[in-house]
Amino acid sequence: MSEFEPASRVSRIKSSASVAAAARVRELKAEGRRILDLTVGEPDFDTPEHIKVAAFEAISRGETKYTSVTGTPALQNAILKTIKLRTGLHYTPAEITIGGGAKQVIFTAFMASLNVGDEVIVPAPYWVSYPDMVLANEGTPVVVPCGEEVGFKLTPGALAAALTDRTKWIILNTPSNPTGVVYSPAELRAIADVLAGFPHVYVLTDEIYDQIYFGEGKLASLVEVAPQLKDRVLAVNGVSKAYAMTGWRLGYAAGPAPLIAAINKLQSQISSCPSSISQAAGAAALAGDQSFVRESVETYRSRRDAAVAALNAIEGLSCGTPDGAFYAYVNCSEAIGKTTPNGTVIRDDQDFVLYLLDHVSVAVIQGSAYGLGPYFRISYATSLDIIDESIAAIDKAVQALI
Ligand code: PLP
Repeated sequence: MSEFEPASRVSRIKSSASVAAAARVRELKAEGRRILDLTVGEPDFDTPEHIKVAAFEAISRGETKYTSVTGTPALQNAILKTIKLRTGLHYTPAEITIGGGAKQVIFTAFMASLNVGDEVIVPAPYWVSYPDMVLANEGTPVVVPCGEEVGFKLTPGALAAALTDRTKWIILNTPSNPTGVVYSPAELRAIADVLAGFPHVYVLTDEIYDQIYFGEGKLASLVEVAPQLKDRVLAVNGVSKAYAMTGWRLGYAAGPAPLIAAINKLQSQISSCPSSISQAAGAAALAGDQSFVRESVETYRSRRDAAVAALNAIEGLSCGTPDGAFYAYVNCSEAIGKTTPNGTVIRDDQDFVLYLLDHVSVAVIQGSAYGLGPYFRISYATSLDIIDESIAAIDKAVQALI
């Protein structure tokens, strides 16, 4: 039998670093090791009861069949109302799409829009999947480093320097994975001003963490502060993070009707529709009682405060205070070049996270996986006890370096 040869699009991409990290933690746990896991990219809470009940009821009513590509009327209404409530913007059913998670919606949006060599501006640090999703769809990721000195955010100057005739998209993720930083209305307006001179460029705003926001007032959304861009912004969202529904696989996006029609055409050939049961649950999540979201955000806030204070108390590490999501991005540059008690030199953040895993059984993800080192990402979507214990262990490991 001849050996299987994957398609070239497969060789162009890597497996997701966060999925790989989670798999490694599971393997080590299966070997009997106790791992303090700060890699987790999902809420540690259970899906709220009223959402589960909505799913059970949908099953009992026999809502177990294909739906239309664009979803059940209940889900469509819930999405349109949610967008109106959060951003004040009015969209029509022809301007929304749904898929098996925000991840799949983003992938399909690239598949629906990119031709060979089209460029996608990806500010770094970025969510691990963006560059590979672009590559898988024949596009060219143009990674723009956005360091700590600019708050890990794309500046108007850096954007202007990266834009070309081939630019198809820029990606903005606010609140961000991995840094938790949030773009202010003024920062979004400044980006919109640059884009005024580039009418061929679309913006994918990944707003999956929009509900997990610790700042004053309401989180700003690009189309809300720059409505003139409405016909070229795809605002992506979903139920995974805000409602602890990562396993239900339901995401959605709002954007210009011709782009949405192209995405839906592909969706009709990819999966027909996301699970009808998840759609019922998602409608209940968006339209129902929001107290779970408020309460979980307060819990994340106290964990964030504890984590950031403990990390900054470690000599040799530092991190800013994130305004959203449930991650902190920690600068470990002072550890680079030092030697572990076993005599290994820490050359980069990848070595550093391996050292943490080997030496004190703490799992975190290296900043280089997000396109900007030397940093590591911690997730504080875990208990305060685990946060305290893990950060004390990280401290011990850092102090053992010479
Ligand atoms: N976008 C960002 C920035 C994420 O961090 C994630 C999940 O980790 C997603 C999108 C995917 O979310 P979903 O579960 O809806 O596919």
